[in-house]
Amino acid sequence: MARARTPKRPRGGPSGDELVLLAWNDLVAMTRGRAVPVSEYASRRAVGINWAMAGHALTPFEDIADNPWCSMDEVHMTPAEETHVRFEVGNGQPAFNMALCDAITTDGGTWDSCPRGFLKGAIADLRRRHGLELLASPELEFQLVGGTLPEATPFSLEAFRLMPDLGQRVVEALRATGCQPETYEPEYGVGQYEFSCAPAFGVAAADRIVLAKEVVREVARRAGLRASFTPKPYPNRPGNGAHIHLSLWSGGKPATHDPSRPGGMTEKAARFAAGIVRHMPALCAFAAPSVPSYYRLGPHHWSAGYACMGVTNREAALRVCLPSKGTAASVHRRFNLEYRPADGTSSPYLALGALVRAGLAGLDEKLPLPPLVQEDPHDMGEARRRELGIRPLPTSLGEALDALRADPVVCGWFAPNLLDTFIAVKRKEIALCEGLSPNDICEKYRNAY
Ligand code: GLU
Ligand code: MG
Repeated sequence: MARARTPKRPRGGPSGDELVLLAWNDLVAMTRGRAVPVSEYASRRAVGINWAMAGHALTPFEDIADNPWCSMDEVHMTPAEETHVRFEVGNGQPAFNMALCDAITTDGGTWDSCPRGFLKGAIADLRRRHGLELLASPELEFQLVGGTLPEATPFSLEAFRLMPDLGQRVVEALRATGCQPETYEPEYGVGQYEFSCAPAFGVAAADRIVLAKEVVREVARRAGLRASFTPKPYPNRPGNGAHIHLSLWSGGKPATHDPSRPGGMTEKAARFAAGIVRHMPALCAFAAPSVPSYYRLGPHHWSAGYACMGVTNREAALRVCLPSKGTAASVHRRFNLEYRPADGTSSPYLALGALVRAGLAGLDEKLPLPPLVQEDPHDMGEARRRELGIRPLPTSLGEALDALRADPVVCGWFAPNLLDTFIAVKRKEIALCEGLSPNDICEKYRNAY
């Protein structure tokens, strides 16, 4: 008797029914979307899918904040083809197939509240006003939860070899999706790991952060675990940072490093850095934008407690990174600034866009390089900090939102609807956490991120 045959798939590609998710990463750094069969994808590429503007006011939970949009307001979420990624997850499961979208209005322009559009605008201004390109890369820490997790010493070979296949699959999947993984390591916490990716220019850097996190979540999912990028998985255990490395380029050449100048920075890089340091308290609203962000952010956690910069200083919010050995040309290329307050609850588009806008303000105003802090800014004491003009970073999400509202320059970078909705969503998150213990809050965000 003839055996039933499984229908053949076309060689070398997905079947027409395979789903591709048209996705976007919203104000609260949630990747949401709507899937269409691959056979429909080509026609969808031009028109996108409709999505209610009000959907951008969703919290990471089952709640939505007050927002200015009515029930008829829609945008066309339109995939940016260069973000389309696909990788086989194995075990007979459908491939991971998605593309990131821009929010386009009915008249064909970019919606003024589109986070990806916000970053694109900042990058275009950096190019137009100063002839500079932004190169950025992520260093992402995550916590594995669920399943049976190995108990192992921080950073140890033991912690690495207890889950070697996971690391291997993470790197393979990141490579297959063009995220260009560079390093993978066990971190401080039990079940905490970290990876970094090569830098990318412009908006592709933020796309890479979004995609890399989703790819790693998918790999963990297939292993029966969750990879959580929450800033503080448990109240008394190490935090997860999402540090962003930045450098400036001009005419295809690195433009950040000048070993003859203070901190080894070119004049333009120094001004760019000065803008970031000046607006640091308000920037926290975008970089550390959740309630548990402030269980992580603070002195003596190598996250950051103060608005300052220093050379190789892991307690400074902006750290000048000196590349490991290499030729002069390679050091020149790899020299970068690391912005440390960012965590995994931040929208890479809003956080990176705000950093670029802050750097632009520094360039426009020709700000001088801030003091280079070569000691622990907490330990130097308040009198010395005041002398150097070093301010503390916010200690709660509420304080960060107040710092944002108190900084008219930062507020001015955003379309009013985008800013007001972002703040409303964040206030709603604070309200939803009211009365909960730190443990419950950590759990709530651990499950969401
Ligand atoms: N886990 C630290 C943070 O929350 C960073 C540690 C490191 O320097 O890698 O930012
Ligand atoms: Mg680390």
